[in-house]
Amino acid sequence: MNLKPEFVKSAPKWTECPEPNKPEYAFIGRSNVGKSSLINMLAERKDLAKTSGTPGKTQLLNVFLMEESWYLMDLPGYGYARVSKTKRGQFEKMITNYLTQRPNLINTFVLIDCRIPPQKIDLEFMEWLGENQIPFSMVFTKIDKISSAALQKALLNYKKEMLKTWESMPQVFTSSATGKIGRLELLNYISYLNEQLKGKF
Ligand code: GDP
Repeated sequence: MNLKPEFVKSAPKWTECPEPNKPEYAFIGRSNVGKSSLINMLAERKDLAKTSGTPGKTQLLNVFLMEESWYLMDLPGYGYARVSKTKRGQFEKMITNYLTQRPNLINTFVLIDCRIPPQKIDLEFMEWLGENQIPFSMVFTKIDKISSAALQKALLNYKKEMLKTWESMPQVFTSSATGKIGRLELLNYISYLNEQLKGKF
């Protein structure tokens, strides 16, 4: 599957994103979760999304056009401690405004490092998405780093944690950028959703 990825722009806020005339899918997670690597793996490009060494450096909404028909939005990573409180506030606002206002946003993929136990910041973020009725899926990243038994255990553990507040689990994907795992599953899901939306854009 060749996505013919094209960088469109980096927008400082949702109002500066392209016309909302195509379905859009956002990718977000704590910095270092492997978001840039995952986007590059999906796009089959080495450095479409910048893997920034400095957490919180890319504080822009990065828009990519895929298959000439849908947008992939690379959202800034959240949850790093080195940014000042004021700055964090502004930046969270940029993300929450985007997520609540962007009319063509179809699904948000929340990335979670499979090796890290459930973190408050991720759980609270997903709860916030739920409260705001923003559809999302979970993507467990870097699965090449642990055994499949450990992965199953981590997924079960996460599920147990989620079901304390959720009635059911969202869609769950597993991925590895290094192992090129999960690409087709994610892209097929996006194609499926795009198919459902035919005629709406
Ligand atoms: P971002 O900050 O979320 O964009 O994360 P990056 O994509 O820059 O990745 C953070 C670090 O994790 C880098 O050192 C990557 O090489 C590494 N990494 C990302 N994805 C994977 C993966 O699937 N497997 C392994 N083993 N390492 C990964």
